[in-house]
Amino acid sequence: MRQSSLAKGNKQIDPVNASFITLTPIIGILGTIWYAKTYGVTWVELAIFVFMYLATGLSITGGYHRYYSHRTYDCARPVQLFYLAFGAAAVQNSVLNWGSDHRYHHRFVDTDEDPYNILKGAFYAHMGWIFYKDDRDAATRFDNVPDLLKDRWVMFQHRHYLPILVLFGFILPALVGALAGRPLGGLLWGGFLRVVVVHHMTWFINSLAHLWGARPYSLKDTARDNWWLGPFTFGEGYHNFHHKFQADYRNGLRWYQFDMAKWWINVLYVFGLVTKMRRIPEPIILKAKLAVEMEAVARRLAAAIASERMWAKVQYRLEMGRLRLETAMISYQAAKLEYRHRKDAWSSEMRRQWAEKLEVYEADFEEARARWRAMVKAMHRIPQPSAHGLLSFTVVLDILKYRLF
Ligand SMILES: [Zn+2]
Ligand SMILES: [Zn+2]
Repeated sequence: MRQSSLAKGNKQIDPVNASFITLTPIIGILGTIWYAKTYGVTWVELAIFVFMYLATGLSITGGYHRYYSHRTYDCARPVQLFYLAFGAAAVQNSVLNWGSDHRYHHRFVDTDEDPYNILKGAFYAHMGWIFYKDDRDAATRFDNVPDLLKDRWVMFQHRHYLPILVLFGFILPALVGALAGRPLGGLLWGGFLRVVVVHHMTWFINSLAHLWGARPYSLKDTARDNWWLGPFTFGEGYHNFHHKFQADYRNGLRWYQFDMAKWWINVLYVFGLVTKMRRIPEPIILKAKLAVEMEAVARRLAAAIASERMWAKVQYRLEMGRLRLETAMISYQAAKLEYRHRKDAWSSEMRRQWAEKLEVYEADFEEARARWRAMVKAMHRIPQPSAHGLLSFTVVLDILKYRLF
């Protein structure tokens, strides 16, 4: 199936795409229900479903998305071939088309050039866009993926997309099912039903992750962070972070934040199949977060504070608090890096001294962060102007009391 995007021009229905995404849920859901009622459900079908679900889902998020579209890490050739085989089996187009569409999405997010522009409606962003033919100029269509055009295995997958899709997406689960005497069960569970489930899980990223959730790292576009979306999107629920820092191989920054693709990449790293995982340095992430918090507070204060003088004072406090926190973070990170790189050459006494020094830096950072949080919280307590425009200046004075250094 071709899943191509529509940037502009008259919309023409793509009959292949339209029929495929209409028929697969009918066969996948109704067919599987009929089969389960007639022949029952065995562990064979469930195992095939789970394997195909994980293999195709991770090939899309870990492979198509974080490896081919954003190049957030390097991986060995067998891993690439796995992504190309099971990515095709996910029936979301060749990686050349997918990666190109996705780079357009990031570059032109929330505009007409965004293939799955959320401003055209939730249904359009979710799956509506796939119903239409691609009307972009074929000569320049792939200008944004020169690296993919140079990869012979990517081009092989692009040229032979359909047979690879049929082989890995449908014949393989049917064959494994046949080994246990249940070929139709394997085909329905591991082929059709799995395609439908993985489709919607991927599409949720373009719809729900641009609609619901917080925007802690950037207010510039519609991308949202949403913790409960992680399990339904193979871990792509922290989409605001991803749009802000697309070069980072993680979506969920913290180890406990649900991010299957991040965990998968880490497992491959342990086996030596992945190298050069790219992470945005902590101080840069913190800076983005603080800028958003500053903007939210500034907006609130702009509506609340009448006097220029008072506004200047509060803004000065905020700026200083932010600077203090950023500086503490950079010092702490720099000390950590120096310790990590040089500790092997140091004596045990030197290492002990440095460990103590690190504790001091960490405590300083924690303190600066606690003060910043208290200050932001206090700012949010400032009442908005009442009907007659009067404010509780005692609250403002309360904030000005916060000691920064
Ligand atoms: Zn992306
Ligand atoms: Zn997005």
